Amino acid sequence: MSSQTTNHVFAFEEGDGKDKRLLGGKGANLCEMTQMGLNVPPGFVISTAACLEYLDSPERALPAGLMDAVHAQMRAVEKKTGKGFGDPDNPLLVSVRSGSAMSMPGMMDTILNLGLNEETLQGEIRATGDARFGYDAYRRFIQLFGKVALGVPDAAFDHELDEVKEAAHAKQDVDLSANDLKEVSERFLRVVEAHTGHPFPTDPYRQLEIAIKAVFNSWGGKRAVDYRKQFHITPEMANGTAVNVVTMVFGNRGDDSATGVAFTRNPGSGENKLYGEYLVNAQGEDVVAGIRTPKPISRLRAEMPEMAAQLDILREKLETHYREVQDFEFTIERGQLFCLQTRNGKMNAVAMVRTSVEMEREGLISKEEALLRIQPDLLEQMLFPRLDPTVKAEPVAQGLPASPGAAFGIAVFDADRAEQLGHELSQKVILVREETKPEDIHGFFAAEGILTSRGGKTSHAAVVARGMGKPCVAGAEGISVDVNRREARVGLTSFKEGDVITIDGTSGKVYLGAIPTVEPDFTPELDVLLGWADEMARLKVMANADTPEDARRARKYGAVGIGLARTERMFNDVQRLPIVIEMIVAETPETRQAALDKLLPLQRKDFRDLFEVMAPNPVTIRLLDPPIHEFLPDEHVLERELTDLRVLARTTRGMTVLAGAMGLLHSPDNVRQDVESLRRMVDPAIVEEAIAKKEAMLRKVRALYETNPMLGHRGVRLGITFPEIYQMQIRAILEAAAECTKAGIEVHPQIKVPQVCTAQELRLVKSFVDTIHDEVTETYGQPVNFKFGTMIEVVRACMRAESLAEEAEFFSFGTNDLTQATFSFSREDAENKFLPLYNQSGILQDNPFEVLDVKGVGKLMQLAVDWGRSVKPNLHVGICGEHGGHPASIAFCHQAGLDYVSCSGPRVPVARLAAAHAALNAAR
Ligand code: PEP
Ligand code: MG
Repeated sequence: MSSQTTNHVFAFEEGDGKDKRLLGGKGANLCEMTQMGLNVPPGFVISTAACLEYLDSPERALPAGLMDAVHAQMRAVEKKTGKGFGDPDNPLLVSVRSGSAMSMPGMMDTILNLGLNEETLQGEIRATGDARFGYDAYRRFIQLFGKVALGVPDAAFDHELDEVKEAAHAKQDVDLSANDLKEVSERFLRVVEAHTGHPFPTDPYRQLEIAIKAVFNSWGGKRAVDYRKQFHITPEMANGTAVNVVTMVFGNRGDDSATGVAFTRNPGSGENKLYGEYLVNAQGEDVVAGIRTPKPISRLRAEMPEMAAQLDILREKLETHYREVQDFEFTIERGQLFCLQTRNGKMNAVAMVRTSVEMEREGLISKEEALLRIQPDLLEQMLFPRLDPTVKAEPVAQGLPASPGAAFGIAVFDADRAEQLGHELSQKVILVREETKPEDIHGFFAAEGILTSRGGKTSHAAVVARGMGKPCVAGAEGISVDVNRREARVGLTSFKEGDVITIDGTSGKVYLGAIPTVEPDFTPELDVLLGWADEMARLKVMANADTPEDARRARKYGAVGIGLARTERMFNDVQRLPIVIEMIVAETPETRQAALDKLLPLQRKDFRDLFEVMAPNPVTIRLLDPPIHEFLPDEHVLERELTDLRVLARTTRGMTVLAGAMGLLHSPDNVRQDVESLRRMVDPAIVEEAIAKKEAMLRKVRALYETNPMLGHRGVRLGITFPEIYQMQIRAILEAAAECTKAGIEVHPQIKVPQVCTAQELRLVKSFVDTIHDEVTETYGQPVNFKFGTMIEVVRACMRAESLAEEAEFFSFGTNDLTQATFSFSREDAENKFLPLYNQSGILQDNPFEVLDVKGVGKLMQLAVDWGRSVKPNLHVGICGEHGGHPASIAFCHQAGLDYVSCSGPRVPVARLAAAHAALNAAR
């Protein structure tokens, strides 16, 4: 054996349990569990480095000497088990399993019962005295090996199995006799030969070599590649898969044998109680694949009390050692418990939060660890919808509550159709399947939720849906799915593709039709956890909120103020828009002032409402920002309306002439009356007046037209050309604050000016503020506390930060515009034009409108912070662009020395946790 190959193959007793990159998660854990003294079947790991060497080799050859090392390891396993690989008298059988550094459930391949051939099978039957067991193992092996290693489609095997079942009148696989299974194996061997043109390989070492290569190849398979892309698993996180060769233990050796999967705590609720499922007399894949619906683990206590007690001990040992919730597989072979695999449990947000808080209280982990084990983005799940409890509806079926949350959508019966309707046509779809398979993954991405008629809470559908945070109801056995007819029958009724159904993954219920959903509340544990986060974070989290409802929700989520209230949203209200338009089209200062006088009390009330909801926290109000023509009607609509009015004018003129002529000819009273009433209805004077107004509006719209409105007459530019608008807003803010103060409500208004590029602009607006403040002080008999600051969202503002800091008490980075300005990418168009291609081809790693571009935009921000503080050391600095709710961008804001981030209400919990992560990671 060469020293080079020794490094590729590690016995469970010698592998480094911490080296997941080299041994994969499963392999490292098998080594660690063996070294902890847990009952793990003997075996060894072939490293991910061997996989990469194999995949890189031009002819896909295993590294030199690898199979020699494998032989040596197999001899050691033979010694430990007392069995022989290929020995017809006492055969050793192994499983060959994949496992990379990142868990990718069901994405790569596993082969069981390897080592079986006609001779070893007979030996196995003699050793166990159980022909049925032997043939069952054999046919499973032929199918799995045929599918995974030789590429024979499942359907070819399933067809044969169904025929034998039908002939034997067997409903389930367990109803088949030894002879039936012998027949199945013989048919399977013929299937393999027919598909591959070669007999099924019989030499165990040949089988092993083919299997190792198949597992290595599965790393590059479409399923695995798609999965890594979707979950952003980069080569730095996981590169290549390891191969685990493990002695087979059998859960299908009779009624004293079983197999199961369990979580040390409930992955749906976080409850500190063993949670899982098992099947008596079954092999591992039966549970995971959802072929038979398993029993809850609580039943094991009655069925096999001794085994249940041993499972409790195993659970305790796993959690104490890993200090993390474990998801493990076990097998009971004739009363002996084996642990086959463990990994950190994938849980939904509710369970992650609850286990974090409880494990800290149990002394298992520290507060810092409790915070760091939760990815901030996961918290969004806790805001997932549930069914509106006020709506009474009768479920049509009950399945297992496999992944919480509720959703409705049109039923779709295959993954491709789900992708087509869900992604391409943006419809809400529920993917309905008998059971799901890894190749359905694209359907999951496109669906609102998943419903299966078979399988348990740890079936593929359940695990994947939970990972994605999508609702899933599994094993709804009352539903019979007919994929070919694209319909499902439920009792006496049925639903077809396109019919709307609702699923509730929290209760497992299924309904016909759409049931509205409502937002859930915070759990008490989330409050505790976010309380810890606030203690650890330096960045404060504020909210972008324009209405009292938004502000209330943001406050409930823990926002400590409003970092951005966009006042234009207040102008867009249906009742106000006519007044806003009146203000814009005004031809004289007097008429403009008249419109503004109507707006003032409305704005004052808007601000007062926000102050009251947020008191005593700061509320930052941004003066009007968008190009003013955005409030005016569309030019083309106006043109069409004018054409119509002109036609009407001609018609009414014609009517008048006609009415006169008719009067001359006949003067019959009734005709005259008809014409008169028509004339009144379409009074030419009214039509002319309407035309004049529309023409004036069109002139205004054309006068305000800009080729590049986002770079045009907006923000402070508007405030300078129409000072009355900013003055009205400033007055409304200060008067609202004065009213609140008078009413005993503590308020901290902050006035911020958008789109500033020079200190002169700020100085001018500040002069308005000072004058109005003096007037308000006089009127209300007391001064108002306020802060005055600027948005930093154009490049020049960053470059002139020192002089801006002389005028401003705070800077607020508007990174939406700053990103646009830095890249010269239109924020309106880039994302649906060239950006996707830039991201796909790797020209840009991320979408800079989503993930702050630290290297460019971030650099400008850093300069602005440093230069601003060089003039004003206590300059308060925050961010209010969309990046303010994005965890990686928040980490940058922490490093850059910002004081706060401001984001939309539902992102506030995410931002609070991300702010804590930023502080904790920076301190490490
Ligand atoms: C920004 O530009 O980042 C910002 C917050 O302002 P708006 O998105 O309203 O332009
Ligand atoms: Mg902006």
